[in-house]
Amino acid sequence: MNKRNFLKMNLSLLGAVFLNPATFWARRASGNPFAIPVTAGNFTLPELGYAFDALEPHIDTMTMQIHHGKHHAAYVNNLNKAVDGTPFNGKTLEEILPALTDKDTAIRNNGGGHFNHSMFWKLLTPKKGTTASAELSQAVNDAFGSLDALKTQISNEGKARFGSGWAWLAVGSDGKLFVSSTPNQDNPLMTGLVAKPGKPILGIDVWEHAYYLKYQNKRDEYLNAIWNLIDWEEVSRLYQAAKPPRKNIFGMWPELGAFHTVMSETFHPMEEGDFKPIRARSGEMADKAKTLAKSNIPADFNNPKILDAVKRLSKGSSALHKTVKKQVSDAELTKSLTALHDVFHEIVGLCRE
Ligand code: MN
Repeated sequence: MNKRNFLKMNLSLLGAVFLNPATFWARRASGNPFAIPVTAGNFTLPELGYAFDALEPHIDTMTMQIHHGKHHAAYVNNLNKAVDGTPFNGKTLEEILPALTDKDTAIRNNGGGHFNHSMFWKLLTPKKGTTASAELSQAVNDAFGSLDALKTQISNEGKARFGSGWAWLAVGSDGKLFVSSTPNQDNPLMTGLVAKPGKPILGIDVWEHAYYLKYQNKRDEYLNAIWNLIDWEEVSRLYQAAKPPRKNIFGMWPELGAFHTVMSETFHPMEEGDFKPIRARSGEMADKAKTLAKSNIPADFNNPKILDAVKRLSKGSSALHKTVKKQVSDAELTKSLTALHDVFHEIVGLCRE
């Protein structure tokens, strides 16, 4: 870069920071005129991560200032007071919320309020065009048909919530996505208090304080506008953290693992044009399939679909071994081993469900 361009770049950076009215007002706004003091305690008020006016025109500046500086700050202050002197003191909200009972009203309201809003600020972004990860998109399509159908369902939950509350997308203990809504500051982490417990990955505040200055009674307009602000990268990150770890199927069902070893050590060479492994080990494969069919199927996998597929695998493996002994052609062998490989993956897929 030459000297002239270097100067030009620095001047334009300077201009962007000090002369741009939006940046100027954003800086002014960081001294939020509506903020109440936050008292010291275990819990603190997180920064928004963007300027109070960054979500305009969908959410107006003053709503953000009051929502963050007064409402959220009050939840933090009251939560610090509420946990003081209780066994919950020093614990995280992820530990506290699932353990709450209907006697813990103050921690329920303010702990929920702090958790929900901390999550909400991160779910909103001025960035345009964020997208869901491939894994989240797949899970959304499986559960709701499409992203648009999901948005409609969440908006409908929010519209139907009488009074104050939240609309949610969450991951259930079965690993599947679901939508729900909760009253007040409840959320799906409150296992003992909500109808549908789970790990929330997207929450929309439908309290009037979230939209009333701009939208007044038109909650549905707010619920349409908010989709312009959702950060799907953040939702994807939360999904990744919330979904249960992949089952170790071969660890749970060693006989299936033993079959898998022979299958992968014969099928993949065959794909590369090497038929020696399958011709040498077709008997071993048939034996492993027979052992598998006679094994104690783990309770998680013991269902008619899997039993049927295992039977087909065993029959197919014996049939393949017979043809190998009769000097079957490479083309025929490719066909039958590929079919067997498909049945094997059908079983693995069923086990993952
Ligand atoms: Mn709120």
